[in-house]
Amino acid sequence: MSEMKQVLRVVGAGSQHWVGDGFPVRNLFPSNGVGAEISPFLMLDYAGPKVFEPATEPRGVDEHPHRGFETVTIAYQGSVDHRDSAGNAGTIHPGDVQWMTAASGVVHEEKHGQAFTAAGGTFEMVQLWVNLPAAFKMSKPRYQGITSAQIPEVALGTGADARLIAGEIGAAHGPAKTFTPVTLIDVRMAAGGAGTLELPAGQNFGVVLLRGSVTVNGATVMSGEPRMALLSPGGGTVELAASEESLVLVLGGAAIDEPVASYGPFVMNTQAELRQAVEDFRAGRMGRLA
Ligand code: MN
Repeated sequence: MSEMKQVLRVVGAGSQHWVGDGFPVRNLFPSNGVGAEISPFLMLDYAGPKVFEPATEPRGVDEHPHRGFETVTIAYQGSVDHRDSAGNAGTIHPGDVQWMTAASGVVHEEKHGQAFTAAGGTFEMVQLWVNLPAAFKMSKPRYQGITSAQIPEVALGTGADARLIAGEIGAAHGPAKTFTPVTLIDVRMAAGGAGTLELPAGQNFGVVLLRGSVTVNGATVMSGEPRMALLSPGGGTVELAASEESLVLVLGGAAIDEPVASYGPFVMNTQAELRQAVEDFRAGRMGRLA
């Protein structure tokens, strides 16, 4: 076992707001000022858990563009219907992950799934934005619809099970293809559960408590509200212990050491590239929804 990673600090959500009329989110960064220390990640929104009554029209976000990065949607409860200008469409069910590389630009809409809309119920998901290095910001869009069955499960201990979305744990490999090294692990813990993660060196890491109560490395307690523990790049071992049923997301990645220029749904390296993105979107060069 390697040395333990150090917890540098713990942050809470910096803002709470609605994205469209379907996603009541708490933002775990960057609204709280966390930025370069969690590169390559740009943003994490945690939607719900919230009960929606049955409805006839799907709630969500209408047609909007993205350029220069990837959006990763993890569904926990309820479902999300997606369709985009690159011709991709699908429903993200609980346990599934959609890894959408916007790169040079897509236009898409994100709505509650039709069956979920009609039946109502509890909705819970995460959307994570992963930056792309300059060399790939204008590459072709890509779409990975990763189903729950494709995600390997790894026991971390007793009552602590990992679903490996991206990166490696021992001999297990996550199915997501990434442009730079990224680790993404969905950890489900039972009350009294405990487990150990061996994480790779050279990546920034955050341990995000979505709900429940978890102690990191025997000392840092996160409980109640969503929290993120930022970890030192050195060392590799992280110990998790849960005092109640908990949902944890571990994210890591090699920092992209480039300037970040962002304007709403566009994340580039320079202001000139942002102006070009706005112009290209307005001119329809990111496509349209059919
Ligand atoms: Mn979007």
